[in-house]
Order: sequence, then structure tokens, then C-alpha cells
Amino acid sequence: MHQVTHFIDGQRTEGTSGRTKEVFNPVQGAPQATVPLADEAEVDAAIASSQAAFDGWSSMNPQRRGRILLKWVDLIYTHMDELAETLSNEHGKTFPDAKGDIQRGVEVVEFAAGAPHLLKGEFSSEVARGVDVHSLRQPLGVVTGITPFNFPAMIPLWKAGVALAAGNTFVLKPSERDPSVPVRLAELAVEAGMPAGVLNVIHGDKTAVDTLIADERIKAVGFVGSTPIAQAIYTAAATHGKRAQCFGGAKNHMVIMPDADLEQAADALIGAAYGSAGERCMAISVAVPVGEETADRLIALLEERMAKLTLGPSLDEKSDFGPVVGADAKARIEDYIGIGVDEGAELRVDGRGASVEGHPDGFWVGATLFDRVTTDMRIYTEEIFGPVLCVVRAADYEEALRLPTEHEFGNGVSIFTRDGDAARDFTQRVEVGMVGVNVPIPVPIAYYTFGGWKASGFGDLNQHGTDGLKFYTKTKTVTTRWPSGIKDGASFVMPEGS
Ligand code: NAD
Repeated sequence: MHQVTHFIDGQRTEGTSGRTKEVFNPVQGAPQATVPLADEAEVDAAIASSQAAFDGWSSMNPQRRGRILLKWVDLIYTHMDELAETLSNEHGKTFPDAKGDIQRGVEVVEFAAGAPHLLKGEFSSEVARGVDVHSLRQPLGVVTGITPFNFPAMIPLWKAGVALAAGNTFVLKPSERDPSVPVRLAELAVEAGMPAGVLNVIHGDKTAVDTLIADERIKAVGFVGSTPIAQAIYTAAATHGKRAQCFGGAKNHMVIMPDADLEQAADALIGAAYGSAGERCMAISVAVPVGEETADRLIALLEERMAKLTLGPSLDEKSDFGPVVGADAKARIEDYIGIGVDEGAELRVDGRGASVEGHPDGFWVGATLFDRVTTDMRIYTEEIFGPVLCVVRAADYEEALRLPTEHEFGNGVSIFTRDGDAARDFTQRVEVGMVGVNVPIPVPIAYYTFGGWKASGFGDLNQHGTDGLKFYTKTKTVTTRWPSGIKDGASFVMPEGS
């Protein structure tokens, strides 16, 4: 058992609250570390450190900040294997998937390093005689990110990368379930030249989060996690008069049209439903084949593939996916499978009671498939967040379109078809934030923005891309008139850029 620490003012800092939580290795099903849960005084220390670092960081020219971010990226790549192994051991996802988690985060830092260009304002000359107007974007101050367990590298990097590039300082409150990678990332940032206090990491639960939101030095709250907490944090941030972007849960559908390449669709579904044990906010948890014949063929292809899936230890190359994150997650998912059976869905493949040789206590849940799921069932309306795929058969395209459109969640959706007209109609009309056409998990790349609709996202600006920079900056608009006067003589000195 080792002790995870906070990372405050450029240093690993032991917790002082006396409250801790166990961090599990999901393959072993046993605790491997303890993480401190911060009290108000520890959160205060983290905020104070970031506040003290703000003047220096925000006044550094953005190109210099960008260089530090790029050096940080270099160091993350250098330490990729070490970071991915730590991540796998705390989360349970496979080693290549852990690398993907880090990679998708790093891409946003690479994008954010272009902040000098991205932060350019607008300019209009002669809006009235001798009057010009320009706008500029300025950092907010100390901002925070509160992040979920399922992407312990990617989501902290999405939030911190953009906020730091814009000149803010950042207090990260990562998930207490897999806290080690965020600390290591912050340590590498300091090694890259980021001044102490610019990026602090504080672990904790509701106490830490409530303290962050209430503190008047915190100017913006970025959150990702489950919907009830996202909504509560959005409300609390608004009560304290601060901006918030809070992303929540999901129930992502994949519509399979009769003309789709069904082999391709089945392969895509297997990866999207069971990869990372279904613990992705963009995982596909509902398949919607259109027409009975499409449904029957699809189910047969899925069952064929599911029989060959390997559930196993995260660091074993042969594993397609690993355990779920905790005993509570395993119990919740298995409960949902029981609920689905009670509700009358047809359980085609049952993942309950899965075991892996040599790891009797691991948090294993096997790939599960339900057919003939209907829209009134809880396994359809609620987020399960595990390796459970529900097939809802649609009679025609219009019914298939209505399902994701009318669902409470609106994170991601996908359509598999060879018909451009159907695909175009679908992308235009579906009420979901991120859409894939023959792409099962349409996570937008770094320079576009990520965000769900309806109960999957609260706030008006998405994560990363230009929205991320808007969220973590405020606009100032300057109207200027100069009285005419004596002009200075010529200057022969090259103006300094950086
Ligand atoms: P969670 O809501 O339990 O926790 C998220 C964060 O909130 C953690 O840092 C946690 O410590 C904190 N937290 C938990 N309870 C709190 C409380 N009562 N008050 C204040 N803070 C609290 O979510 P999770 O289980 O870590 O992550 C899985 C969820 O995140 C799923 O619902 C998934 O769909 C969602 N998710 C959404 C996106 C997206 O972009 N929409 C991305 C990833 C994950």
C-alpha cells in the first residue's frame, strides 16, 4: 500500500485532514494505495498557491506559455508507458486503451499551445470619425476542473491544457478512484518549466468540491461526471455567480440501417459497447437495427464475435477489455442485468458471474447482450455504464431517429448506412450533440469541440476547441479615440516578439 499525495505549489504534498480513501487495483480486487481526501484548509492552500502564481503566469506572453506546454507534451510522450501502466492499474482499462486516454488528452494540449493565434481579438477601425473598437480575451484567474474516473488523463488535460494556455492557473480535483496519473502529469508540468502553483492537484470528495465552488477566488468550474452531480454543480456554481460547464451521463445509440455493411457495423458495435468495459461516456449502449431482418442478422453477428471476446487483466496483451473500476460498479451493473431480465428483455449473453483465472477477486463483468429491449425499461432509460448492450428493434428509419432524439441523454449517436441521403437527414434532425456516420464513437478531435446535449451537458460552451478557450477567458471590448497630435519620428529598432 502506498500513499497518493496532493500536488500543491510544485510539490507532492501529504494530506493533513486525516480522511483517506482506498484506491483499488480492479484486476486484483484489492486496495493498492490510499488517497487523501482534502478538508477546507487543504483546498484553501491549493487555491492560495494558484492565486499567487496567477500574476506571473498570466503576464507571460502566450507563446512562451505555449512552449512550456509543448515541453510538457514531450515529457508526457517520454513517460507514456509509465503513465499508461499506472492508469491501467488503477482504472482497469487495457494498456493500449490507457495510452489512447493519454493521447487524446495530449492532443488538446498541442492544440492549446496555439493560444497566441486562438486568443486574437477583433478590430474595427473608424466605427465613428476617429474611433476604433477592439476586443481582447483575458484569463479569468484561478479556475477549476472536477473530473471523472473513466478518463483520468484525457479529461484533466482537456480542461487544464486550454485553461493554462489562456493564462489561467488551475486547481484540478480528479476522481479519487484513480488519482495517481493526474499527480504525475502535474509533476511533469513543473519539470517542463511550468511555475509552481500554476497547476495544483487536490484530491477529495464532496467537501473538496463544495469548497472549490464556494471560494470566490475560483472564477470558473469545469465538471465532467454523472448527470445528477453535473446538474448539482452547475446550480451551485450559478448560485455563487460563476460560470460553469458541466457534462453528464449518456445513453448513446447506434442506428443500423438495412443497407449498412453489417459485418462492419457488428465489429464497430463490439468495440464501442465493450471496449473499456463500457465505461466510456461515448460508449454505445443501445443498438437500433432497422427492420426485423437487419436485427436478426446483426444479433447473430454480435453473438459470433462475443464468443471470441477475451476478458482479462488490463496489462495482458490478449485482453480485449479488463475489469470494471470497483466492487460497487460491478454490483450496480449486475443489478441492472437482473432488472433487464425482470423487465422482460431477452438476455442473449449474460456477463454476470464472469471470472478470470488467477484473479478470483477482480471486478469482472462479462460482455452482456439484451435483445427486444423497449423504451419503458430502466435498462433503456438509465445509464448502466458497463459492458451491457441493449438492442431496441425499430420498424423503420423514423422510429430509429426518434429513439435517440427523444431520449433524456444526448451525448453521442451514430448511424451505419451506405445511403448518403439517410445519413444527411439523420445528422440534421437528431437531437444529440456528437454524431458519427459509419463511425461508432464520434469523439471530436482536439480542434473541434466536445459536448453533449440535454441531460448530458449543462452550460452553453463545449470542451476544448475554440469553445474551451472562450469558456476559460473573458472578453474585454475597448473603444478608442485619440485626439490628433504630434507624431513621433521613425523607429529603427526591431520590435521584440517574445
Ligand atoms: P461521478 O459523478 O461519480 O464523479 C465525478 C467527479 O465528481 C469526481 O471527481 C467525484 O469525486 C466528484 N463527486 C462525486 N460525488 C460528488 C458529490 N456528491 N458532490 C461533489 N462532487 C462529487 O462520476 P464518475 O463515476 O467518476 O464518472 C462516470 C460518469 O461520468 C458517467 O456518468 C459518465 O457518463 C460520465 N462522463 C461524462 C462525460 C462527458 O463528457 N459527458 C465524459 C466522461 C464521463
